[in-house]
Amino acid sequence: MRIMVDTNKCSGHARCAALAPHVYALDDQGYAVPFDGEVAPEDEKAAVAGVHACPERAITADRRSSASAGR
Ligand code: SF4
Repeated sequence: MRIMVDTNKCSGHARCAALAPHVYALDDQGYAVPFDGEVAPEDEKAAVAGVHACPERAITADRRSSASAGR
């Protein structure tokens, strides 16, 4: 599964990193660090929780990526 963080929408709520610290990183100001890449299968559930928890809808999950193909 691919995760994309749009930092232009991020308002620094830090909910994503609280739910999935292995997926989302924050900068010194508490804003999400830009990320666009595959998430390890064991981190997918937490990553999706972060997507739903973001009040700014700054995170997008693409389940059609090659990492999750065949599931
Ligand atoms: S939850 Fe959303 S707004 Fe908050 S830090 Fe993460 S990406 Fe930014």
